Order: sequence, then structure tokens, then C-alpha cells
Amino acid sequence: MDRRYRRPPLKRWNGWGSNDIDYPVPASALAYLVEALGSSQPGPSASLETIVKRIPPSRLPDHPLISTDPEMRLRHSRGHSLPDWIALRFGSLDRFPDGVARPASEEEVKNSFAFAKETGAWLIPYGGGTSVVGHINPPPVDHPYLTISLERMRRMTKIDETNRVAAFEAGVTGPHLEAQLRARGYALGHFPQSFEYSTLGGWIATRSSGQQSLYYGRIEDLFAGGRMISPAGVLDLPPFPASAAGPDLRQAVLGSEGRLGIITNALVRVSPLPQIERFHGLFFPSFDRGVAAIKEMAQSKLQLSMLRLSDSLETNTSLVLTGNERMIRMLNGLLRVRGLKERDEKCMLFLGLTRARGLARKTRRIALDIAREHGGVHVGRKMGSEWRRSRFKTPYLRNTLWDLGYAVDTLETALTWTALPSALDAVLKALREGLEDRGERVLAFSHVSHVYATGASVYVTFLFRIASGAGETLLRWQKLKTEASRAIAAHGGTISHQHGVGLDHLPWLEAEKGRLGLRALAALARAFDPDGIMNPGKLIEIHKPK
Ligand SMILES: Cc1cc2nc3c(=O)[nH]c(=O)nc-3n(C[C@H](O)[C@H](O)[C@H](O)COP(=O)(O)OP(=O)(O)OC[C@H]3O[C@@H](n4cnc5c(N)ncnc54)[C@H](O)[C@@H]3O)c2cc1C
Repeated sequence: MDRRYRRPPLKRWNGWGSNDIDYPVPASALAYLVEALGSSQPGPSASLETIVKRIPPSRLPDHPLISTDPEMRLRHSRGHSLPDWIALRFGSLDRFPDGVARPASEEEVKNSFAFAKETGAWLIPYGGGTSVVGHINPPPVDHPYLTISLERMRRMTKIDETNRVAAFEAGVTGPHLEAQLRARGYALGHFPQSFEYSTLGGWIATRSSGQQSLYYGRIEDLFAGGRMISPAGVLDLPPFPASAAGPDLRQAVLGSEGRLGIITNALVRVSPLPQIERFHGLFFPSFDRGVAAIKEMAQSKLQLSMLRLSDSLETNTSLVLTGNERMIRMLNGLLRVRGLKERDEKCMLFLGLTRARGLARKTRRIALDIAREHGGVHVGRKMGSEWRRSRFKTPYLRNTLWDLGYAVDTLETALTWTALPSALDAVLKALREGLEDRGERVLAFSHVSHVYATGASVYVTFLFRIASGAGETLLRWQKLKTEASRAIAAHGGTISHQHGVGLDHLPWLEAEKGRLGLRALAALARAFDPDGIMNPGKLIEIHKPK
């Protein structure tokens, strides 16, 4: 193992990330929240011991590979969707896997399948457990469940420098994967915000997208092949540079959400470490003008690594959260001098450059010229460097906000450039007005996070007050999620650009895939998993074997 890699400290069982890291909010930010949403009571926090005591005995027989320890079962029972948080924090969860297997080799994965066959258990593949749509939760069907965590399968097994392909066991997390590659002068460059805890297998199984996908590509561009073990047998996917030999089965494994089998080994396309990795900050006088600029950059095929444009409310909220009033005053002064007006709805753009030195300079010049034509003001690299430094720390805010009494969730979609403005307006309206009947306000803001020649993804964050009971808090979330999802579907957006389907997006899938499409997916699942034991209820309705 590379010596520079340090294992992350123990994970919180009911919140984001390491027990050792906090993200306090400054007093000015709390005042801002109270102004926007009203004051709130601290969110509840059930104790680990109370929940562990309530866990029913396991329905699985003893096996050397399997732990039935209640705490282990609790720690693998939920991901990071808001319903997961509500269940964990209120202590209202009632479904747990009956056991957790942690295989260290493909042989042990196969043994887990044999165990499932003998005992009739259903299997839930588990990477880092960072799913935000209910991927790894036992569904509400009374049946023994065995979670298979790949956390012990995390080695780089091969690097082929000539063909720039590396092979990894699929349970490797982001930092460990990059550390092993960096030691050889390479990078994968897949940086979802959950990077520190999510795994290569999870990225493939959810069709994940990293923050610098504009340069490195989404996971479907990086996943070259590998091995998936399914109840029906082993699928090997050779790493062809390209192939016209019929439909690409890699694409079936990508986004398979544990329904087809367990990805044990993945071959990924790697790049030499970049000479330059920089993030520039810019401000636009309005969201529309910012969108026009990034659209032109995307369509000019400028090789940037990231374009992330916040709307004016997200821009303002991010600045307030820094608590640095002096910096905000200086920034506003600078923007005034450079031509932005006080009344402008300022929108912040982070522009990433990941390249060889000479190319980066040229790309930067063209990008800044385009920005200027759309009224953009370049404020240098300081804010971009700060964003980069804290990019994996922002999720810790969820812990702090919960403790202050505010629930926070996100949703995302991808739309054509034509559909984007009206769709985004409709989603934000649905969220902001969604709890009016309950006399509650919602703070909702967004950014465009991944751009393509034909359109872009938008990522929406929304906050509301936690109610005194789990049921009412969940109802508030359900109402907001349903209304926002309806607006996405009505405006031609996909139900997910990067988070996947899981349990939460399943009701919206038919609108996108059609009946025939869903039947084809179910048939594919039956081919790999004839008895329907793999991650039932996610992505595809639970299927009954014939
Ligand atoms: C704070 C936060 C930020 C996030 N940011 C992003 C982001 O920027 N971009 C993004 O795309 N997503 C993001 N996500 C969502 C999540 O991190 C991704 O969906 C991620 O790909 C899940 O990986 P995981 O290893 O945690 O998988 P899990 O959550 O453990 O599993 C997800 C699904 O994959 C299946 N699975 C996992 N491993 C395997 C395997 N080896 N074989 C077969 N199936 C498997 C599981 O059965 C399940 O269906 C974020 C989540 C959080 C909580």
C-alpha cells in the first residue's frame, strides 16, 4: 500500500464522514438561516445503544464469512438519503440486514453466493454506503438479507502503463485509489463530492459523475472493463479501446445498482498526473448570462475540467457561510470597480483547468475571453483554491445543520440548454412553495455542475426545518421530493444525472424508459439473476422467478 495513504478515521454511524471532523457555521450564517426559515429546535439524535438494543435477532445461520453483530448490521442498514438520515437520527428505522459479509477475494464473493443459495437470503452489494437514493437499504419485504461489503477488496492489482489501464478490486475508495495511482505517476480523476468514502464499484454501479468530469470523463468513460460475478455465472468484460461487436455489455453493468451481480474487479482508463490543476473564480451579472457563457465554452469544445455556475442565492449563501465579512466587503468592492452593479444578481462560476502547462494557458485565455463577452468578471484563483481545499468538507455541513434543527437535501437532473431555464424555475418554485400549506418555508438554490454541448446538469440544494416527529419530517421531505421530481419529468429532465435510481427514483423511471424499456431491464436482470436475489426492489421492481 502507498505510504502516503492514510485510512480515514472511523465513520459516523448516523451522519456524514469522520467522527473527528466538524464544520461549524458562523453566527452570521445561523442568523441568515433563521431569517430564511425561522428559528428551530436542535434535530434529534437517537443513541447507537438504543437502536442496537431494538435490532431483531438475525435470521441467518452462523458462517465464518458473515457477521451478525447488531452494530455491524446497523452500520450497513442505511445510506445518506434524507429519509435515511431521518430514520437514523430519530431512531425510527425498523429494517436491518440479517448479516454482513466482508469478502477479501473473488473466491469469498462466490462463497457468499453459495451461502445465499443454501439459505435463501437476498443479497445487497455494498461499496461505501454513500448512496443518496436508498440503494443499499433492505426493502420493505420480510425476507432475510445479507449485505456484501467490498471494503476489504481495495488493491490495485495491475497497471499497464503502455495502454494506460489500471485494474483495481472494486471496493477501493477514492483516496486509496488515487494514492496507489499517484505513486506510479497517474490519476483516475474521478472526484464525486463523496470521494473520501465512495468506492470504484459503487461509482460504476450508480453511473456516477465526478466534479472534473469535463476533463477526465464520467465513470462510463473511465470504466474500461472488468469482472462481475452474478448468480448465473461470471461476466468478463475485456478492455477494448472500442468495439462494434453488438451492444456494449459494459453499459449494462454501468448503472446496474447491484441488480445483476457484484463487480469484483474493474479496469479503468488512467491519465498521467496533470502539470496544472487550477480553479478560477468569476462573477456574472445574472444567471442567464453565466449560462450563456458556459454554454458557449462547452460548445467550443474548450478543454476545461470543470464549470460550476451557482445561481445568485447559492452564491450569496456560500459567501455568508464563510462568515468572512471583510472578504465579502472587499469582493463586492472589487466587483463594483470591475463593472458589476449593486443591483446585479451576482452569480459565481468556478472554472477548472487540468492540463499540460502550455495548453492550460491557451485554454484559460479563450475561456476568459468568452466570459468577458457575457459580462463575466475574473477574480483570480484565491476563491477557486479555497473551494478546492474544502470541496470534500462541505458535506459535513449536513451534520451541523441537523444539530441546529435544519434538514438539507439535494436533487439533480440533466436537461437540454433549451429546457434548462424553465425547468430550473419550475423545480425551485415547487420547492420554495412546497410547504406553504404547512406554514413552513424552504430555502432552495442551485448550480449548473456538468456541461455538455447539448445541455447541462443542475444540482439543487434545499433546506427546511426539522419537525418534532420523524413522520412529519418525512412527510415534508416526501412532498418536496415529489413536487420537484414531477417538475423535472414535466420539463423533459432525467430523474437523475448522477445519483442513480435506487428506491427513491424508481416511481419516475417509467416516464423515462417506457414500459418496453423497463421490461427489457427486467429481462436483463433475470438473465444474470434468475431467482431475483440481487438487491431486490432497487432500479427494477422486485421480480418473481418463473
Ligand atoms: C455527501 C455526498 C456527496 C455525493 N456526491 C456525489 C457526486 O458528486 N457525484 C455522484 O455521482 N454521486 C455523489 N454522491 C452519491 C454517491 O456517493 C454515489 O452514488 C456513489 O457512486 C456511491 O458509491 P458507494 O461506493 O458509496 O456505493 P453504495 O452507496 O455502497 O452503493 C450504491 C449502489 O451500488 C451498488 N454497488 C456498490 N458496490 C458494488 C459492486 N462492487 N458491485 C455491484 N454493485 C455495487 C449497491 O448495491 C448500490 O445499489 C454523493 C453522496 C453523498 C452522501
